[in-house]
Amino acid sequence: MSKMMESKQTHIHIEKIKLLYMHSLIPIVLSAVAGLFLVAALWKLADRQHLLIWFGITLLLALVRIVIISKFKQTHPQGHDVLQWEKPYSISLLLVFLSWSAGLIWIMPRDNLTAIFILNTFSLGLAGAAISWYSPLRYLQIASVSLALVPMIIVLLTLGYEQTFWVGIAACCMYVSCIITSILLQKTFNGNLELAYDLEQAKMSAEDMARTDALTGLNNRRAFFDKARLLFDYCKSNQQPVSALMLDVDHFKSINDSYGHASGDMALSCLAELLKNNLRESDVLCRFGGEEFAVLLPNTVVAEAEDVANYLKRTMMNSTIVIAQENLLSLTASFGVSDIGDTLEDLLSHADKAMYIAKNNGRNHVVRYQPD
Ligand code: GH3
Ligand code: MG
Ligand code: MG
Repeated sequence: MSKMMESKQTHIHIEKIKLLYMHSLIPIVLSAVAGLFLVAALWKLADRQHLLIWFGITLLLALVRIVIISKFKQTHPQGHDVLQWEKPYSISLLLVFLSWSAGLIWIMPRDNLTAIFILNTFSLGLAGAAISWYSPLRYLQIASVSLALVPMIIVLLTLGYEQTFWVGIAACCMYVSCIITSILLQKTFNGNLELAYDLEQAKMSAEDMARTDALTGLNNRRAFFDKARLLFDYCKSNQQPVSALMLDVDHFKSINDSYGHASGDMALSCLAELLKNNLRESDVLCRFGGEEFAVLLPNTVVAEAEDVANYLKRTMMNSTIVIAQENLLSLTASFGVSDIGDTLEDLLSHADKAMYIAKNNGRNHVVRYQPD
Protein backbone atom coordinates (compact mmCIF):
# COMPACT_ATOMS: atom_id res chain seq x y z
CA MET A 1 0.00 0.00 0.00
CA SER A 2 1.41 3.43 -0.88
CA LYS A 3 2.17 5.88 1.96
CA MET A 4 -0.68 8.16 0.85
CA MET A 5 -3.20 5.30 0.81
CA GLU A 6 -1.90 4.13 4.17
CA SER A 7 -2.37 7.54 5.73
CA LYS A 8 -5.84 7.77 4.19
CA GLN A 9 -6.83 4.39 5.61
CA THR A 10 -5.37 5.29 9.02
CA HIS A 11 -7.23 8.59 8.99
CA ILE A 12 -10.49 6.80 8.17
CA HIS A 13 -9.84 4.22 10.89
CA ILE A 14 -9.27 7.02 13.42
CA GLU A 15 -12.55 8.64 12.36
CA LYS A 16 -14.37 5.33 12.84
CA ILE A 17 -13.03 4.89 16.37
CA LYS A 18 -14.03 8.45 17.23
CA LEU A 19 -17.52 7.82 15.85
CA LEU A 20 -17.88 4.69 17.96
CA TYR A 21 -16.89 6.53 21.11
CA MET A 22 -19.12 9.50 20.36
CA HIS A 23 -22.28 7.43 19.89
CA SER A 24 -21.90 4.61 22.37
CA LEU A 25 -23.53 5.92 25.52
CA ILE A 26 -27.04 5.60 24.07
CA PRO A 27 -26.89 1.84 23.28
CA ILE A 28 -25.32 1.12 26.66
CA VAL A 29 -28.11 2.87 28.55
CA LEU A 30 -30.85 1.47 26.30
CA SER A 31 -29.57 -2.09 26.52
CA ALA A 32 -29.46 -1.85 30.34
CA VAL A 33 -33.08 -0.66 30.32
CA ALA A 34 -34.02 -3.45 27.89
CA GLY A 35 -32.28 -5.94 30.20
CA LEU A 36 -34.43 -4.70 33.07
CA PHE A 37 -37.61 -5.30 31.05
CA LEU A 38 -36.35 -8.76 30.10
CA VAL A 39 -35.93 -9.55 33.80
CA ALA A 40 -39.50 -8.33 34.36
CA ALA A 41 -40.78 -10.48 31.46
CA LEU A 42 -39.06 -13.60 32.79
CA TRP A 43 -39.62 -12.92 36.50
CA LYS A 44 -42.29 -15.59 36.78
CA LEU A 45 -40.80 -17.96 34.21
CA ALA A 46 -37.10 -18.28 35.08
CA ASP A 47 -34.85 -18.72 38.09
CA ARG A 48 -34.90 -15.32 39.84
CA GLN A 49 -31.46 -15.70 41.37
CA HIS A 50 -29.99 -16.36 37.91
CA LEU A 51 -31.89 -13.38 36.53
CA LEU A 52 -30.53 -11.04 39.22
CA ILE A 53 -26.93 -12.28 38.90
CA TRP A 54 -27.06 -11.94 35.11
CA PHE A 55 -28.56 -8.47 35.31
CA GLY A 56 -25.96 -7.44 37.93
CA ILE A 57 -23.09 -8.57 35.68
CA THR A 58 -24.49 -6.79 32.63
CA LEU A 59 -24.95 -3.62 34.69
CA LEU A 60 -21.36 -3.86 35.94
CA LEU A 61 -20.00 -4.26 32.41
CA ALA A 62 -22.18 -1.37 31.22
CA LEU A 63 -20.63 0.73 33.97
CA VAL A 64 -17.11 -0.26 32.90
CA ARG A 65 -17.94 0.85 29.37
CA ILE A 66 -19.38 4.13 30.56
CA VAL A 67 -16.12 4.79 32.46
CA ILE A 68 -14.00 3.99 29.37
CA ILE A 69 -16.13 6.21 27.15
CA SER A 70 -16.10 9.08 29.66
CA LYS A 71 -12.31 8.81 29.94
CA PHE A 72 -12.04 9.00 26.14
CA LYS A 73 -14.21 12.11 26.06
CA GLN A 74 -12.22 13.72 28.89
CA THR A 75 -8.86 12.90 27.32
CA HIS A 76 -10.11 14.02 23.90
CA PRO A 77 -7.27 12.26 22.02
CA GLN A 78 -6.37 13.44 18.54
CA GLY A 79 -4.61 11.91 15.54
CA HIS A 80 -2.76 8.66 16.08
CA ASP A 81 -3.46 8.73 19.86
CA VAL A 82 -7.05 7.73 19.06
CA LEU A 83 -5.79 4.34 17.81
CA GLN A 84 -4.80 3.34 21.36
CA TRP A 85 -8.47 3.56 22.34
CA GLU A 86 -9.61 0.88 19.93
CA LYS A 87 -8.53 -2.04 22.15
CA PRO A 88 -10.38 -1.01 25.33
CA TYR A 89 -13.47 -0.28 23.25
CA SER A 90 -13.45 -3.59 21.37
CA ILE A 91 -12.52 -5.80 24.31
CA SER A 92 -15.14 -4.28 26.62
CA LEU A 93 -17.79 -4.45 23.89
CA LEU A 94 -17.07 -8.10 23.11
CA LEU A 95 -17.12 -8.92 26.82
CA VAL A 96 -20.53 -7.26 27.07
CA PHE A 97 -21.85 -9.30 24.15
CA LEU A 98 -20.34 -12.44 25.60
CA SER A 99 -22.11 -11.75 28.90
CA TRP A 100 -25.40 -11.08 27.11
CA SER A 101 -25.09 -14.14 24.94
CA ALA A 102 -23.88 -16.64 27.57
CA GLY A 103 -26.19 -14.99 30.10
CA LEU A 104 -29.32 -15.42 27.97
CA ILE A 105 -28.58 -19.12 27.64
CA TRP A 106 -27.75 -19.43 31.33
CA ILE A 107 -31.04 -17.84 32.45
CA MET A 108 -33.07 -19.79 29.86
CA PRO A 109 -35.47 -22.29 31.46
CA ARG A 110 -35.15 -25.23 29.04
CA ASP A 111 -38.64 -26.50 29.73
CA ASN A 112 -40.54 -23.28 29.05
CA LEU A 113 -41.13 -22.45 25.38
CA THR A 114 -42.57 -18.99 26.12
CA ALA A 115 -39.40 -18.01 27.99
CA ILE A 116 -37.24 -19.53 25.25
CA PHE A 117 -39.01 -17.50 22.55
CA ILE A 118 -38.83 -14.33 24.64
CA LEU A 119 -35.06 -14.87 24.94
CA ASN A 120 -34.75 -15.57 21.22
CA THR A 121 -36.62 -12.37 20.42
CA PHE A 122 -34.26 -10.55 22.72
CA SER A 123 -31.14 -11.93 21.06
CA LEU A 124 -32.53 -10.96 17.63
CA GLY A 125 -33.03 -7.45 19.01
CA LEU A 126 -29.44 -7.45 20.27
CA ALA A 127 -28.18 -8.46 16.82
CA GLY A 128 -30.21 -5.65 15.21
CA ALA A 129 -28.76 -3.12 17.65
CA ALA A 130 -25.23 -4.41 17.01
CA ILE A 131 -25.69 -4.00 13.24
CA SER A 132 -26.67 -0.39 13.58
CA TRP A 133 -24.51 0.83 16.48
CA TYR A 134 -21.23 -0.89 15.67
CA SER A 135 -21.25 -0.46 11.92
CA PRO A 136 -18.04 1.65 11.82
CA LEU A 137 -15.80 -1.38 12.44
CA ARG A 138 -16.59 -4.50 10.48
CA TYR A 139 -14.97 -6.99 12.87
CA LEU A 140 -16.87 -5.51 15.83
CA GLN A 141 -20.13 -5.56 13.92
CA ILE A 142 -19.76 -9.16 12.79
CA ALA A 143 -18.36 -10.38 16.13
CA SER A 144 -21.13 -8.76 18.17
CA VAL A 145 -23.88 -10.01 15.83
CA SER A 146 -22.37 -13.49 15.94
CA LEU A 147 -22.11 -13.46 19.73
CA ALA A 148 -25.73 -12.33 19.97
CA LEU A 149 -27.10 -15.01 17.60
CA VAL A 150 -24.85 -18.05 17.14
CA PRO A 151 -25.01 -19.51 20.68
CA MET A 152 -28.79 -18.93 20.75
CA ILE A 153 -29.18 -20.63 17.35
CA ILE A 154 -27.15 -23.65 18.50
CA VAL A 155 -29.27 -23.97 21.63
CA LEU A 156 -32.54 -23.62 19.66
CA LEU A 157 -31.46 -26.26 17.15
CA THR A 158 -30.36 -28.71 19.81
CA LEU A 159 -33.04 -28.30 22.49
CA GLY A 160 -35.06 -31.14 21.06
CA TYR A 161 -38.41 -29.36 20.53
CA GLU A 162 -39.79 -29.22 17.02
CA GLN A 163 -40.87 -25.60 17.51
CA THR A 164 -37.47 -24.40 18.75
CA PHE A 165 -35.78 -26.24 15.87
CA TRP A 166 -37.78 -24.30 13.26
CA VAL A 167 -37.31 -21.04 15.15
CA GLY A 168 -33.59 -21.88 15.21
CA ILE A 169 -33.63 -22.29 11.41
CA ALA A 170 -35.48 -18.95 11.11
CA ALA A 171 -32.85 -17.35 13.37
CA CYS A 172 -30.16 -18.81 11.07
CA CYS A 173 -31.75 -16.95 8.14
CA MET A 174 -31.81 -13.77 10.24
CA TYR A 175 -28.14 -14.29 11.04
CA VAL A 176 -27.20 -14.67 7.36
CA SER A 177 -29.27 -11.59 6.60
CA CYS A 178 -27.46 -9.66 9.38
CA ILE A 179 -24.05 -10.64 7.97
CA ILE A 180 -25.02 -9.60 4.42
CA THR A 181 -26.42 -6.29 5.76
CA SER A 182 -23.22 -5.79 7.69
CA ILE A 183 -21.07 -6.23 4.57
CA LEU A 184 -23.28 -3.89 2.53
CA LEU A 185 -23.36 -1.26 5.30
CA GLN A 186 -19.59 -1.41 5.58
CA LYS A 187 -19.17 -0.73 1.88
CA THR A 188 -21.44 2.32 2.03
CA PHE A 189 -19.90 3.49 5.27
CA ASN A 190 -16.32 3.19 4.01
CA GLY A 191 -17.32 4.82 0.73
CA ASN A 192 -18.79 7.80 2.58
CA LEU A 193 -15.76 8.20 4.83
CA GLU A 194 -13.38 7.93 1.86
CA LEU A 195 -15.40 10.53 -0.01
CA ALA A 196 -15.39 12.85 3.01
CA TYR A 197 -11.60 12.39 3.29
CA ASP A 198 -11.00 13.05 -0.41
CA LEU A 199 -13.20 16.16 -0.28
CA GLU A 200 -11.35 17.45 2.78
CA GLN A 201 -7.98 16.86 1.07
CA ALA A 202 -9.16 18.55 -2.13
CA LYS A 203 -10.46 21.51 -0.10
CA MET A 204 -7.17 21.79 1.78
CA SER A 205 -5.08 21.62 -1.36
CA ALA A 206 -7.35 24.17 -3.09
CA GLU A 207 -7.00 26.49 -0.09
CA ASP A 208 -3.26 25.92 -0.12
CA MET A 209 -3.07 26.71 -3.82
CA ALA A 210 -5.15 29.84 -3.33
CA ARG A 211 -2.62 31.06 -0.76
CA THR A 212 0.65 29.97 -2.36
CA ASP A 213 2.55 31.52 -5.21
CA ALA A 214 2.84 28.78 -7.83
CA LEU A 215 6.33 29.70 -9.07
CA THR A 216 8.17 30.26 -5.79
CA GLY A 217 6.04 28.36 -3.26
CA LEU A 218 6.03 31.49 -1.08
CA ASN A 219 2.94 33.11 0.42
CA ASN A 220 1.00 35.03 -2.16
CA ARG A 221 -0.43 38.47 -1.38
CA ARG A 222 -3.63 37.10 0.09
CA ALA A 223 -1.84 34.76 2.51
CA PHE A 224 0.67 37.50 3.29
CA PHE A 225 -1.99 40.04 4.22
CA ASP A 226 -3.81 37.51 6.42
CA LYS A 227 -0.70 36.44 8.32
CA ALA A 228 0.98 39.85 8.39
CA ARG A 229 -2.16 41.57 9.66
CA LEU A 230 -2.40 39.21 12.60
CA LEU A 231 1.26 39.74 13.44
CA PHE A 232 1.07 43.51 12.90
CA ASP A 233 -1.97 43.82 15.21
CA TYR A 234 -0.28 41.62 17.80
CA CYS A 235 2.88 43.77 17.79
CA LYS A 236 0.89 47.01 17.98
CA SER A 237 -1.29 45.84 20.85
CA ASN A 238 1.77 44.59 22.77
CA GLN A 239 3.80 47.78 22.18
CA GLN A 240 6.34 45.83 20.16
CA PRO A 241 8.11 47.33 17.14
CA VAL A 242 7.26 45.92 13.71
CA SER A 243 9.00 46.62 10.42
CA ALA A 244 8.33 46.02 6.76
CA LEU A 245 10.90 45.31 4.09
CA MET A 246 10.20 45.52 0.36
CA LEU A 247 12.62 44.48 -2.33
CA ASP A 248 12.50 44.62 -6.09
CA VAL A 249 15.03 42.86 -8.30
CA ASP A 250 17.10 45.26 -10.36
CA HIS A 251 16.88 45.19 -14.14
CA PHE A 252 15.04 41.90 -14.12
CA LYS A 253 13.61 42.54 -17.53
CA SER A 254 17.09 42.33 -19.01
CA ILE A 255 17.49 38.84 -17.50
CA ASN A 256 14.38 37.72 -19.30
CA ASP A 257 15.58 39.42 -22.46
CA SER A 258 19.04 37.84 -22.30
CA TYR A 259 18.27 34.33 -21.09
CA GLY A 260 14.58 33.82 -21.77
CA HIS A 261 11.48 33.83 -19.59
CA ALA A 262 12.00 30.29 -18.29
CA SER A 263 15.45 31.23 -17.00
CA GLY A 264 13.90 34.31 -15.40
CA ASP A 265 11.43 32.02 -13.64
CA MET A 266 14.24 29.84 -12.38
CA ALA A 267 16.12 32.89 -11.09
CA LEU A 268 13.00 34.03 -9.21
CA SER A 269 12.49 30.71 -7.51
CA CYS A 270 16.18 30.54 -6.52
CA LEU A 271 15.90 34.03 -5.08
CA ALA A 272 12.77 33.04 -3.15
CA GLU A 273 14.70 30.12 -1.64
CA LEU A 274 17.59 32.39 -0.72
CA LEU A 275 15.25 34.87 1.00
CA LYS A 276 13.40 32.14 2.86
CA ASN A 277 16.66 30.60 4.09
CA ASN A 278 17.99 33.90 5.36
CA LEU A 279 14.97 35.14 7.31
CA ARG A 280 13.67 34.12 10.73
CA GLU A 281 10.83 31.64 11.18
CA SER A 282 8.72 34.43 12.61
CA ASP A 283 9.15 36.73 9.59
CA VAL A 284 6.37 36.66 7.00
CA LEU A 285 7.71 36.60 3.45
CA CYS A 286 5.72 36.82 0.26
CA ARG A 287 6.04 37.31 -3.44
CA PHE A 288 4.29 40.64 -3.63
CA GLY A 289 4.12 40.52 -7.43
CA GLY A 290 6.43 40.04 -10.43
CA GLU A 291 9.98 40.38 -9.14
CA GLU A 292 8.99 42.16 -5.97
CA PHE A 293 9.00 40.61 -2.49
CA ALA A 294 7.71 41.84 0.87
CA VAL A 295 8.65 40.81 4.41
CA LEU A 296 6.98 41.68 7.69
CA LEU A 297 9.45 41.54 10.56
CA PRO A 298 7.78 41.33 13.96
CA ASN A 299 9.48 42.68 17.07
CA THR A 300 12.03 44.48 14.89
CA VAL A 301 12.99 48.15 14.91
CA VAL A 302 13.86 49.82 11.61
CA ALA A 303 17.63 49.76 12.29
CA GLU A 304 17.45 45.99 12.64
CA ALA A 305 15.31 45.74 9.50
CA GLU A 306 17.98 47.78 7.71
CA ASP A 307 20.62 45.27 8.90
CA VAL A 308 18.47 42.42 7.60
CA ALA A 309 18.10 44.16 4.24
CA ASN A 310 21.87 44.82 4.00
CA TYR A 311 22.56 41.20 4.87
CA LEU A 312 20.14 40.01 2.15
CA LYS A 313 21.67 42.45 -0.32
CA ARG A 314 25.19 41.09 0.36
CA THR A 315 24.03 37.49 0.29
CA MET A 316 22.32 38.03 -3.06
CA MET A 317 25.44 39.62 -4.53
CA ASN A 318 27.60 36.77 -3.28
CA SER A 319 25.28 34.03 -4.53
CA THR A 320 25.31 32.78 -8.06
CA ILE A 321 22.34 31.26 -9.78
CA VAL A 322 22.84 28.77 -12.58
CA ILE A 323 19.98 29.41 -14.91
CA ALA A 324 21.18 27.94 -18.13
CA GLN A 325 23.98 25.46 -18.52
CA GLU A 326 26.83 27.92 -18.32
CA ASN A 327 25.18 31.10 -17.26
CA LEU A 328 26.13 32.08 -13.78
CA LEU A 329 24.09 34.96 -12.57
CA SER A 330 23.98 37.04 -9.47
CA LEU A 331 20.98 39.21 -8.84
CA THR A 332 20.85 42.52 -7.08
CA ALA A 333 17.83 44.24 -5.65
CA SER A 334 16.73 47.57 -4.23
CA PHE A 335 15.41 47.52 -0.67
CA GLY A 336 13.11 49.79 1.31
CA VAL A 337 12.49 49.43 5.04
CA SER A 338 10.20 51.15 7.48
CA ASP A 339 8.73 50.76 10.95
CA ILE A 340 6.36 53.71 10.64
CA GLY A 341 2.67 53.16 10.02
CA ASP A 342 -0.55 52.92 12.01
CA THR A 343 -1.89 50.30 9.64
CA LEU A 344 -0.25 47.43 7.79
CA GLU A 345 -1.05 49.15 4.49
CA ASP A 346 0.69 52.38 5.63
CA LEU A 347 3.73 50.47 6.81
CA LEU A 348 4.05 48.63 3.49
CA SER A 349 3.49 51.76 1.46
CA HIS A 350 6.29 53.51 3.40
CA ALA A 351 8.67 50.60 2.77
CA ASP A 352 7.64 50.71 -0.90
CA LYS A 353 8.38 54.44 -1.14
CA ALA A 354 11.81 53.87 0.40
CA MET A 355 12.41 51.08 -2.13
CA TYR A 356 11.67 53.43 -5.04
CA ILE A 357 14.13 55.93 -3.60
CA ALA A 358 16.70 53.09 -3.53
CA LYS A 359 15.95 52.48 -7.23
CA ASN A 360 16.40 56.14 -8.03
CA ASN A 361 19.63 56.24 -6.04
CA GLY A 362 21.18 53.81 -8.48
CA ARG A 363 19.74 50.44 -7.33
CA ASN A 364 21.38 47.70 -5.19
CA HIS A 365 20.76 49.98 -2.22
CA VAL A 366 18.96 49.84 1.11
CA VAL A 367 16.91 52.90 2.04
CA ARG A 368 15.13 53.60 5.29
CA TYR A 369 11.85 55.46 4.99
CA GLN A 370 12.02 59.02 6.29
CA PRO A 371 8.72 60.82 6.84
CA ASP A 372 8.60 64.22 5.04
P1 GH3 B 1 14.01 47.84 -12.21
O1 GH3 B 1 15.40 47.73 -11.78
O2 GH3 B 1 13.56 49.22 -12.49
O3 GH3 B 1 13.08 47.16 -11.26
O4 GH3 B 1 13.92 47.07 -13.59
P2 GH3 B 1 13.13 45.79 -13.92
O5 GH3 B 1 13.50 45.34 -15.29
O6 GH3 B 1 13.32 44.77 -12.86
O7 GH3 B 1 11.66 46.28 -13.82
P3 GH3 B 1 10.47 46.30 -14.82
O8 GH3 B 1 9.27 46.63 -14.00
O9 GH3 B 1 10.76 47.12 -16.00
O10 GH3 B 1 10.35 44.81 -15.30
C1 GH3 B 1 10.04 43.79 -14.46
C2 GH3 B 1 10.22 42.52 -15.23
O11 GH3 B 1 9.97 41.37 -14.43
C3 GH3 B 1 9.28 42.46 -16.41
C4 GH3 B 1 8.57 41.16 -16.25
O12 GH3 B 1 8.45 40.46 -17.44
C5 GH3 B 1 9.45 40.40 -15.29
N1 GH3 B 1 8.67 39.47 -14.55
C6 GH3 B 1 7.67 39.70 -13.69
N2 GH3 B 1 7.17 38.54 -13.23
C7 GH3 B 1 7.89 37.55 -13.82
C8 GH3 B 1 7.84 36.12 -13.77
O13 GH3 B 1 7.04 35.50 -13.06
N3 GH3 B 1 8.74 35.43 -14.49
C9 GH3 B 1 9.65 36.05 -15.27
N4 GH3 B 1 10.51 35.31 -15.96
N5 GH3 B 1 9.69 37.38 -15.36
C10 GH3 B 1 8.84 38.11 -14.65
MG1 MG C 1 12.62 45.24 -10.90
MG1 MG D 1 9.01 45.59 -10.16
